[in-house]
Amino acid sequence: MTDHDFSFETKLLHNQHKFDPATGGVSVPIQHASTFHQSDIDQFGKYDYSRSGNPTREALEDIIAELEEGTHGFAFSSGMAAISTAFLLLSAGDHIVISEDVYGGTFRMVTSVLNRFNIEHTFVDMTDLESVKAAVQPNTRAIYIETPSNPLLKVTDIQAVCDIAKKAGALSFVDNTFLTPALQKPLNLGADVVLHSATKFLSGHSDVVAGLAVVKDPELAARLGSLQNSFGAVLGVQDAWLVMRGLKTLSVRMEHSQKGAEKIAAYLKEQPLVKKVYYPGLADHPQHAIQKGQSLGAGAVLSFELESEEIFRSFVNTVELPVFAVSLGAVESILSYPAKMSHAAMPADEREKRGITNSLLRLSVGLENPDDLIKDFDAALVNIAKGEAIAAK
Ligand SMILES: *Cc1c(COP(=O)(O)O)cnc(C)c1O
Repeated sequence: MTDHDFSFETKLLHNQHKFDPATGGVSVPIQHASTFHQSDIDQFGKYDYSRSGNPTREALEDIIAELEEGTHGFAFSSGMAAISTAFLLLSAGDHIVISEDVYGGTFRMVTSVLNRFNIEHTFVDMTDLESVKAAVQPNTRAIYIETPSNPLLKVTDIQAVCDIAKKAGALSFVDNTFLTPALQKPLNLGADVVLHSATKFLSGHSDVVAGLAVVKDPELAARLGSLQNSFGAVLGVQDAWLVMRGLKTLSVRMEHSQKGAEKIAAYLKEQPLVKKVYYPGLADHPQHAIQKGQSLGAGAVLSFELESEEIFRSFVNTVELPVFAVSLGAVESILSYPAKMSHAAMPADEREKRGITNSLLRLSVGLENPDDLIKDFDAALVNIAKGEAIAAK
């Protein structure tokens, strides 16, 4: 193929794995083999054993590397496997500066696993660059960013924090699960490692658990590749295929879901029973300008706090369309309860401190007609308001 600079949507379909060179098949073949016959005693072929390298997994790794504009991709058995393996780039005695409202599983990894290996951490409000600088220690070897954050959708200035990391001689990690390379490309903003739960938007259909990492530096790629092989939490071939299948529709899904999220956020903001709406696409979001500057959009996830836990409970029991579940980034809208789901691993006092209250809901907007979701939410809110009016009499 010529080297035209085609757009992201086009690259999702027309990449180096557009068809199988052996047969012309317009889908990457699933290579189940765990081992590969070697035809020469002294010279082994490209593949020898599937933990170390497998053509199906490699196709996904090539594709994500291209989409994130990195040089090397790595596929893991889950987002946490990708994140945990990336943390193995650190050594005992090292220190991590990390977003305070980071994903619950990442919080657990840092606070109850890495600490046992003498890898220390400091949680910071990543939106406050002065506190990021103040948290850096002589042994800081990584700054870990998740933006927009989960579940409060705080936005970190990726470039500014990556600059702080660079000056400190630390690596910068960015969890790009919420926006995907369709909307945000952290490597171009100075990040060293981009991480994904491909379970979410990248695969997009609530039918696979997978993780990805992308780097752009060959030396870092060699180290991460060796860790992937040593730790061994590689993605299986069926699942790699499912992620590739999902990726083909990433742009259209993100576009539809993001438009829906914008509409729903604007609707929720006007509702008297809704105390607060968290969505970086809203003009009054504290980091709206940073979001606009570093990404093509604010994504399809928003959170909102209802006026009380009682209202919250009636709301969840009344709405019909979204599934009530953990996870996000799927074709169906997903309503989740951060305090009891994604952030259950976080102690209650830590949650309260961060603003993850018992009446906070997170909504990941799917591919429904957003007007139907609004209709559903409105019916529930009207019903609750009626109940309140009767109770007040
Ligand atoms: C889900 C998620 C993870 C963890 O990924 P798994 O695939 O569930 O292991 C990490 N970061 C974010 C932001 C997530 O939403």
